[in-house]
Parts: sequence; structure tokens; C-alpha cells
Amino acid sequence: MTTQLKNYAADQWVATTGEGTPLYSAITGEMVARSGSEGLDFKAMLDHARNVGGPALRAMTFHARARMVKALGQAIMDRKEELYALNWATGATRQDGWIDIEGGAGTLFTMSSKARRELPDDVVLADGDMEPIGRQGTFVGQHVYTSLQGAAIHINAFNFPVWGMLEKLGPTLIAGMPAIIKPASPGAWLAEAAFRIMIEADVLPPGALQLIVGHPGDLLDHLTCQDVVSFTGSATTAMKLQSHPVIAREAVRFVAERDSLNASVLGPDATADSPEFDLFVKEVVREMTVKAGQKCTAIRRALVPAAQLDSVEAALRERLSKVVVGNPQAEGVTMGALATPGQAAEVRQRAREMASEARLAFGDIDRVDVRGEVDSAAFVSPLLFRADDPWSARLIHDVEAFGPVSTIMPYRDLDDAIALANRGKGSLALSFFSYDPEVTRALVLGAGAFHGRIVIVDRDSARESTGHGSPLPMLIHGGPGRAGGGEEMGGVRGVKHYMQRSALQGSPRQLSAVIGRWLPGAPQPEGPVHPFRMRLGELPIGYTLKTPSRTVTLEDIEHFAHFTGDTFYAHMDEEAAARSPIFGGRVAHGYLILSFAAGLFVDPAEGPVLANYGLEGLRFIKPVKPGDSMRVELTVKSKTQRSEDQGEVRWSVSAFNQDDELVATYELLTMNAA
Ligand code: NDP
Repeated sequence: MTTQLKNYAADQWVATTGEGTPLYSAITGEMVARSGSEGLDFKAMLDHARNVGGPALRAMTFHARARMVKALGQAIMDRKEELYALNWATGATRQDGWIDIEGGAGTLFTMSSKARRELPDDVVLADGDMEPIGRQGTFVGQHVYTSLQGAAIHINAFNFPVWGMLEKLGPTLIAGMPAIIKPASPGAWLAEAAFRIMIEADVLPPGALQLIVGHPGDLLDHLTCQDVVSFTGSATTAMKLQSHPVIAREAVRFVAERDSLNASVLGPDATADSPEFDLFVKEVVREMTVKAGQKCTAIRRALVPAAQLDSVEAALRERLSKVVVGNPQAEGVTMGALATPGQAAEVRQRAREMASEARLAFGDIDRVDVRGEVDSAAFVSPLLFRADDPWSARLIHDVEAFGPVSTIMPYRDLDDAIALANRGKGSLALSFFSYDPEVTRALVLGAGAFHGRIVIVDRDSARESTGHGSPLPMLIHGGPGRAGGGEEMGGVRGVKHYMQRSALQGSPRQLSAVIGRWLPGAPQPEGPVHPFRMRLGELPIGYTLKTPSRTVTLEDIEHFAHFTGDTFYAHMDEEAAARSPIFGGRVAHGYLILSFAAGLFVDPAEGPVLANYGLEGLRFIKPVKPGDSMRVELTVKSKTQRSEDQGEVRWSVSAFNQDDELVATYELLTMNAA
């Protein structure tokens, strides 16, 4: 049955006014869908995103957006079987589909939970700490992020129709930006179905998402500095789009993630009987066959100590001989088809070019045994090349055959391995199979600058390792140079691509009000009510309790020392303490100061403060000697709602001595009733 895919423009499903482009099953060659975007008003779509979607998203806090993103992931999970039903025609196995569909929903869940934990329940994000500027502390600096006011244009690759859409969408929506998504044509039926599920979840504000199933027309002609283009695909298209005159003129942000000649290195310490050897062999085969090798992170070059080359080749051939290519719905099939016959033809062509400088060690470029019913030219055999002289070869480091293709090559020593890995001219992922931390450190120092992610696999981490080829939502996905120079995901780092960082300068009072967080030097209003008697919503930022003072006696110090067992000489040995250049005599324990501080500021009765769950940034600044006195200022620094009935209060605590000198400072975290 052929589906006419629809665009989603200005909150309406719109079919193309043209005939549409036929899209075919990679397995059977039958027409699955038609796509097309003729008749769309692309400028109006941008205006809708900017004027309707953007303001609605920016009115929501990071937490509200994160809850919405979680609901989108949940909607995908609830209806995942509908997507699996469409997955196989893209050529993918169920396992490939799992990475795409459930892996995609998983990135939304992780992004959502990181955003709720690490971002404030606000719409502005402070970046780092306040920078003191004026000597008197009346003029300070603070970096902030605010949402860009344009649209995020997501141009996605064909290899992961769902994951590729969701990994960009999570950070975009959390940043408060609407998105216009253009999936790749191959497999667009799967992307459209996942998109439809998100719309039908009915959790998005109008204008937040739009979809173009076809050419994006003159969309790019109307971009401004407030828009972002996030692109995944070939280097050729990336360059073409990046040099679009409007993108160049308006300095439109362009996040590119493109082809990459990723390497995997078997460490010089690994021998045929070490666990790392087996792990390496498994991983190379896995990366060649998952998604039929159509992964931007797949291992294209496997680097092996020269003495191990023959054994690695033999082990890889043996393992590859067990791969069953065919219809993913047929029993026992472990590798599906490429996305289109055109992709398969291109991979074969590239393999033929590579064969001019490397020997084919496994597979047949022109033939493949296929299991199950198929009628498509989109199948390719796994192809393993061996290049015995990798320095005289060029294509194996330069040509990305985007399919089940990899080349093994020898290296002399670690420096040689690093230099070969770096010949990828900037890659998304590098994996290293070694059990020797010193060698690993040397590899990271030599290859880090050329790689966006380095995975170190050994016998300790293997069971839990997520492997060479899996980008994770909490870690950066992207790479320098040829890999595009972009960075996606990386937790909250990914959100910032869709926000503008500005340096603010002004008084602590002003800047504190802007960021919703108390800054030193900002007002510290006091009131008749103890702050522990106020619920989360009632506590004003900056509200301060100034306690009376108490004297710290030698008896207090000795009592504390014996009670806790901490009889360190600085507290208990008069002569040794006198010799100390720091103390010059006995001093109170830092932990005693903390305990007395709590004794001074705590209001004991049952109330809205539910728990003390830690302190951060503790510094003991000046020793407290017997006979000194201390007092405390407890100030509400920031508040974060964590659930309907609870939230976190971050208190700034400063302890002073009788001369008003700061003796200790820290941030206290309490969980409070909302
Ligand atoms: P393309 O670069 O051709 O396409 C990527 C995306 O860009 C698709 O959505 C495509 O849409 C779109 N596009 C193409 N031309 C334009 C244009 N003029 N204006 C706007 N959008 C455009 O890559 P493919 O997906 O076809 O893959 C080709 C090669 O790219 C692969 O063989 C592989 O080498 C590499 N690749 C790398 C990936 C990576 O993650 N690093 C992922 C996928 C591919 P449409 O499909 O409708 O043409």
C-alpha cells in the first residue's frame, strides 16, 4: 500500500500539490510512499515558527519543556510497534530498528531528565559564576544564555530516520526553539510516522514543530542570525548548504555532522589470547554489519599491530562468514539491506576504487547471498579489505563507503597508529582496545585533537561498554574537520547550540534579578519570619537570616575532638599547632564550625524544610581560635521546583568572626515543601 506522505506546516497536514517522488522498499523494491513539498510556503513556515512556536516555547520554563520532551519520548514508546512495522522497508533489521526507534526515544528521556536536574526551572540560564570587576563589588559580570528567537532547521540523514530526528529535537525544544524538520527522502515514511505520533501526543504548543517531506525549496533564503541549521549527511551537501550566500551573510549557525573515516585500534599490548583481541574482532564485525554499516560512526579503518595482522584477518573472516544477509523478516537474518539500490551501487563503486590499493580479504563486491524473499538491488555483502602498506594507500583513509565496508591495516608502533588514525582528518569516533593505561593516555594525547569521542574498551568495561558506534545523549556526538566540526547532544551542552550566550555587566542587584539567583553584593532582605518556616514558594531570593554570635571555647574544641575521635594536632597539641605556619596555635575543627553554624541558623520545629541533603563549595577561609566568636548569614541563593510538592533550596552560608572577617563559606542544599 502506498502512502502519500504529508508535510506539516503551520499546524496543518498538507499534501504536495505535485505528483510526489516515489519512495521504494529497500527489501522488495516496491513503492512504499510518495513524498513531496511542492506548494508549501516555506517563508510562511519560518514566520509561523518564529511568531507562534518560538514565543509559546519561550514562555515555558526549561523544566516544562523537558517534561514535554519526555512525553514525546513516551508517545514514541507507546506506539513503537507501528514504527517497527515501517522500519523493515528501510532495509533495517529489528535490532537496527531498536537503535533507531527506542534509542531515539531514549535520547529524549535522557535529555529531559538531565535538563530537569541541571537547568533551573526558569527561562534564562546563568553560565558559570559571577565575575568580580569593580573593587567595591558594585559592578560585576555574569554570562547568561537566552533562547534564540528564530527556527531550528533540522536536515537529517537517511540512516536513522527516528533517532536522527529525536537526537536533535530534544536539545532544540529544551532550549525553547521551534523546529522545522526535513528528513532524508529514503525512509521518510518512518520519520513522518514518528513525527505524526509526536503531533498526536498533543503536548506541543502550536508552531513548535513543522515537517517538510521533500525539497525545502527557498527555505534557506529567508534565514537570519536567529536561526540554526543542524545538518547530518554527506560532506558535499554540507559544503553546498554551508556556503549558501544567506547562511554566510547572516552568519547563521550551522551545526554539521558528516562523513567520517573512523578508526579502531587494537592496542600494542594486545595479543591473540588477550580478551581485548576478541573484543576488538567482535566490535569490528558489529560495526560493519549493524545497520548494514550505514552509520556515521562505523569503523572504516581497523588498525592492528603488524605482528597481529594475520591473526586478526583470520578471526574477522571467520566471524564475518557467520553473517546472514537478507530480508530482515526472514529467520536468522543478521544484516539487512542498504537504504536504496542507489546507495548500494555507490558503495560497490567505492569498494571497487578501494580494491585498487587494498586486497579484498572477505566478501564479493558484485555478489551477495541473500536469505528470504527479496527483490531489490540494495543488498551488499560485508566487504573486508586489507592494506599492508597503509601509508602508501590514500583511498582507504579518504573514501567513505557508506555500507558494510572496513579495511584492516598494520601499524608499527603507537605513534604510527596515532598518525594513521589522524589521517581520517577529523573523525566522530575512535576506539582503542588496550589494557594498559599508560598506552591509553598516550593515545588520547596524540589522537584527541582529531576525534570527537574516544571509546576505550578492555576486559573491565566490556560487559557494560556501549561500544564504538553508539553516540550517547549525555556525551558529545560530532567531530572536527572532515566529520563536520559540529557537536550534538552532550547533555546540556547540546541545548546551548540553540541559545545565545551574552556577557552581562552591572550591579549585583540588577544581575541577580535577571538570573533569578542571589549574587554576592545583591540585597539581603531580612524579615520577622525564620526562613525555615517558609515554604518553597514563599521564600524570596536573597532572603537572609543573620544569627546572633556564639563564642568558641577550648572546652568546645576538646569536647568535639573526643566526641568525634578527630584529635588532629592542630586542635589538640598546643606545641605542634604553634609550630604550624598556618595555624600558629590551636584552632577549632572546620567541622565544628559547620556544626555550630547549623546550631546557629537552624529552626528546630517540624516544618517546610524536609531534609538537608548536602553542601557544596565549602571553604575554610580563616582559622577560628579558642575565644573567637562566630555568627552566620544564611541567604536564599536559588530555588528549583523538583516535583509538585517539593523543591530544592540552595542557601549561601557565610560564617564570620567577631571582626566580621569571613571564616567559612559554603552552599547548603535543602529539600523543602512547595
Ligand atoms: P545527503 O547529504 O545527500 O543528504 C542529507 C540530507 O540533506 C537529506 O535530508 C537530503 O535530503 C538533504 N539535502 C540534500 N540536498 C539538499 C539541498 N540542496 N538542500 C537541502 N537539503 C538537502 O546525504 P545522503 O543522506 O543522501 O547520504 C549520502 C552520503 O552521505 C552517504 O553515502 C554517506 O557517505 C554520507 N552520510 C553521512 C552520514 C553521517 O552521519 N555522517 C549520515 C548519512 C549519510 P534528500 O534525501 O531529500 O535529498
